[in-house]
Amino acid sequence: MGYAEVSVNSPVAQRRTFSYSIPPELDINVGQAVWVPFGDKLLQGVVLELTRLPAVEETREIDGVIEPRPILSPAHVLLARWISEHYLSPLFDAVALMLPPGFERRAITFISAPKTLPEPDISSLTQGQRDALAFIQRRGKVSLRELEKELGKKRAQSITSQLVGRGLAVRNYELEPVKVRPKEELYLSLAVNAVEAQQEAAGLRGRRAAKQAALLDFLTHQSEPVSLAEARRGIGCDKATADALVGKGLVAYQRIAVKREPISYEGISPSLPLSLTAAQEAAFKSIRDSLRRQATGEVFLLHGVTGSGKTEIYLQALAEAVRLGKRGIVLVPEIALTPQTIERFGSRFPHKVAVLHSKLSLGEQFDEWRRIENGEFDVVIGPRSAIFAPQPDLGLIVVDEEYEWTYKQHDKSPRYHARDVAIKLAELTGAVVILGSATPDVATYHRAQQGGYHLLQLPERVTPRDGSAMPQVQVVDLREELKAGNRSLFSRSLSEAITRAVAKGEQVILFLNRRGGETFIQCRNCGFVLRCKRCDVPLTHHFTEDVLVCHQCNRRTLVPQSCPRCSSRRIKFLGIGTQKLERETGYTFPQARLLRWDSDVTKGRYSHGEILSRFRAHDADILIGTQMIAKGLDLPLITLDGVVTADTSLNLPDFRAGERTFQLLSQVAGRAGRGSLGGRVIIQSYSPEHYAIQAAAKHDYTSFYKKEIAYRRQLNQPPFTRLALLVYSHANDALCQRETERMKRLLAEEIDSRGIADLDIIGPAPAFIHKLRGRFRWQIILRGSEPSALLSQLPIPRGWTIDIDPVTLL
Ligand code: ADP
Ligand code: ZN
Ligand code: ZN
Repeated sequence: MGYAEVSVNSPVAQRRTFSYSIPPELDINVGQAVWVPFGDKLLQGVVLELTRLPAVEETREIDGVIEPRPILSPAHVLLARWISEHYLSPLFDAVALMLPPGFERRAITFISAPKTLPEPDISSLTQGQRDALAFIQRRGKVSLRELEKELGKKRAQSITSQLVGRGLAVRNYELEPVKVRPKEELYLSLAVNAVEAQQEAAGLRGRRAAKQAALLDFLTHQSEPVSLAEARRGIGCDKATADALVGKGLVAYQRIAVKREPISYEGISPSLPLSLTAAQEAAFKSIRDSLRRQATGEVFLLHGVTGSGKTEIYLQALAEAVRLGKRGIVLVPEIALTPQTIERFGSRFPHKVAVLHSKLSLGEQFDEWRRIENGEFDVVIGPRSAIFAPQPDLGLIVVDEEYEWTYKQHDKSPRYHARDVAIKLAELTGAVVILGSATPDVATYHRAQQGGYHLLQLPERVTPRDGSAMPQVQVVDLREELKAGNRSLFSRSLSEAITRAVAKGEQVILFLNRRGGETFIQCRNCGFVLRCKRCDVPLTHHFTEDVLVCHQCNRRTLVPQSCPRCSSRRIKFLGIGTQKLERETGYTFPQARLLRWDSDVTKGRYSHGEILSRFRAHDADILIGTQMIAKGLDLPLITLDGVVTADTSLNLPDFRAGERTFQLLSQVAGRAGRGSLGGRVIIQSYSPEHYAIQAAAKHDYTSFYKKEIAYRRQLNQPPFTRLALLVYSHANDALCQRETERMKRLLAEEIDSRGIADLDIIGPAPAFIHKLRGRFRWQIILRGSEPSALLSQLPIPRGWTIDIDPVTLL
């Protein structure tokens, strides 16, 4: 007898598998989904391993197979295990990432009376048991849920157990109905030959069954099965008529799956590969050679500004993979998954591109998944979860804009990073990875510098305009504005540029990064920002207590009356949001028509698409929004991009604030002036000398990287160390604080007793977003070479979330 190690869909299963014996009548394979008994329930599980011996003495049997063919490939089984271990997530959470959409189903428990009923002896039963038994007998079969409604949860469960124990009732399990099925249509064809059909039709006409006769006649003249819908259109036949003929054995039904196509290829014409520039050619050759060597798992970092031709390289590398009999997955940030992007891939690989997108209906996702599994597509394109698509013969994975934070799932378990998962999957399958970016993640670039990844550079745009490859960027010093008596949100330069652009009928975008905008304290005279002396992160102002708090170590200080550096009393909160900016813009430029684009607006009145098309139609002169609008906006009339303040993201209490600012500003700066009118960027700041701002203005990644990596090394931050962020949340703030302090003590003791040298604990402190949906949040940061090694060995109580390699500490 064989045994299986099964990952079970239960919250108590955590990171382990459970041993089950395989009954002789079942054919069990690795990756298969099965039903297993677990406690008194029947749960879903996935077989991760077959063994000759169980891990425990007593095992129960696998109850049944959910689907005969394995749903996880051997590589995906290993990937699931890796995710669970690496990110400390429950194993089934990791497995679930790879299940077909809508797969997770519950078993429903039913209680019924036994089939062979000896007249039950109810004399010894309690009144409650008698009532329940009568209820079950009356209905024949009752779901446990119904019984719970009738008797209350606890009582229903205990009475059921008692009745089952006495043999007066039996428990059965049935599957919850399937949520999605492949979409099927009913097709009709003759079940008899044409001659017989004609005779029958004549007979039916005589018996005044004209509709049935008409349908038979119709079907006689079809060479292939006809859908019911078509028959309805053709001769107005209804379902009852068809049913009647099926009942007489003259017509047969057939269910045929219909394809839902998420890409409409209408209007997409096939495109041919472009002939590559010298820089593209060099980069492409390295990738091609790696693909041809097969099974390398190599990683390429393709570093090139926007418009340098990275996407063309992705397309040609994918084509090469296809020539080699392989397939690819392309990850793009959710917001960049636009019709234009899809069109570009669709036109190069007509009808061979699958799109996985959260906006698709569950049914569409399910269909795509199945078709991918069947090997119908050369390319799967989608946001982070598309990395788990069951693409067979994986040869190439592209991660576009690899630095994007949305690749990290931060809000639920597993808190995985799709880029890191992609690299692991490539290692397991031998696929090649291309990480593409204009502003690579500092850690990625560092790795490439160290030789861990192959670095490929595309230094220039494919089509530089007017001799200057990139738009001009001007950095305005807001301190000078104040000295000149200008207290408005708009510097003189920005104000003049806006007026001029609007007068000429051109369009303007104003960017604001609202997040954190109201929280730090900055001197408007000298630009000084108050920071924690211990942690070097900006202090956050807490309005309620009017104190400054460090969100890493919880150090508290009073708000100073004057600037510690220049003694100016103009020390002030820089609190502006997009709404306030919209108001001020309205006062300052009354002649301009405004449009605001932020998550508040898109949650309510308009969708992203609607706002975009209104702006495209020139319904407004100035578009105001957060940096999320920097992407995908490529309109010819936009000639000016203004960053109202670069300081908000720069002063977030996070070690990646500089990197984040550089990325955001580079995106804005790289975006401008793509139309024939050219373009200009103006960045306003109270700390214009900051290297992140300076480097972004000069489109100079290298100088940014050098400063940033030196700073990370000096402060011992990633990539020179690793972090784990532990957050505890609870409705009671004081309890939250106590629990994090308790956890800190526990961690400190463990570090001590195990003699771990390089692991420090930072905190506890209130999280930057201290209160979220009615719950308070406190956090601890564990920093060292391997924080998860310690955490994996400790029981982590409920209420805690752990984020390994967090992309942000906020
Ligand atoms: P990126 O992905 O780096 O932003 P793209 O691949 O989108 O760059 O290229 C930018 C523009 O240049 C696109 O319009 C693309 O069609 C064009 N392009 C790219 N490579 C070539 C080439 N070798 N010859 C001509 N045009 C090219
Ligand atoms: Zn000052
Ligand atoms: Zn501090």
